[in-house]
Amino acid sequence: MDYNKILSDIYDEIQPLAGQGKQADYIPELAKVDPDQFGMSLETISGEMYSISDADVRFSIQSISKVFSLALCFSVVGDELWKRVGKEPSGAAFNSLIQLEIEKGIPRNPFINSGNLVVADILLSKLEYPEEKFISFVRSLAQNEEIDYCMRVAHSEREKSYLNAAIVNILKYYGNIENDIERVLHFYFMMCSVEMSCAELARAFIPFANHKMPFDYAGVTLTSSQIKRMNAIMQTCGFYDEAGEFSFLVGLPGKSGVGGGIAAIHPMRYSVAVWSPRLNDKGNSIMGMKALELLTTKTEESIF
Ligand code: GLU
Repeated sequence: MDYNKILSDIYDEIQPLAGQGKQADYIPELAKVDPDQFGMSLETISGEMYSISDADVRFSIQSISKVFSLALCFSVVGDELWKRVGKEPSGAAFNSLIQLEIEKGIPRNPFINSGNLVVADILLSKLEYPEEKFISFVRSLAQNEEIDYCMRVAHSEREKSYLNAAIVNILKYYGNIENDIERVLHFYFMMCSVEMSCAELARAFIPFANHKMPFDYAGVTLTSSQIKRMNAIMQTCGFYDEAGEFSFLVGLPGKSGVGGGIAAIHPMRYSVAVWSPRLNDKGNSIMGMKALELLTTKTEESIF
């Protein structure tokens, strides 16, 4: 497969979408990002990396971090997790309150905000140094010790966190949060604030693509079966209320974030990360989604 040519053709073909959509601005720091950037990196499970354009520019990974926090939590508590969080697509916005109230404080899945706030709460209860553990796990996955939280983005999000604060209060009311609400929000925003490039994200997702290899990063271990189950949740719940559309157009498990990034995997073949800050009205990167649709069209391979 000539991935260099495929990436370069994709880059040319997405140009007509330039300028469509806008970057997330409910987090003031994200509104300052130059929206007209695009990067893409693909790494095969044999270790070849292909990149184009702004693939080495770091950006706010936001909800892509939910894959890492789920992996960490799953490794620590195993199937106990599913007593407090479901594994069904939500069909609602990532920060929706309505469903959470109707379903009495049990979030639909760990990739929406409510579900990941519960994941954050479990990690706070179970780990002695959760912030250090989380970042060392991500660094180990990406094989890069310089990856870090961005305090500026974390604080900026806290200042305007009306919806997430409401969500965590509902969770607490229904008994699904053990720790102090402020601590949970702080840790959750820290995890969302991590900055990585497409190349770093592609590298960090290789262990999810290569699920037959032993998974052991910074002391975090998962079985092959657990990784496959995580991939199943990426497939069904990774794209807000556009998971069906992404599955239909792209056909790969993955996770998006409101920073404009998307990371996806083709099991036993490759991992891929794209980034472009302009989002559609569901919160997914417009150019990023198109680039991944073109990738599986041009390679004529998806998981289906
Ligand atoms: N930190 C963001 C929030 O909680 C993450 C949203 C996302 O990327 O989906 O609203």
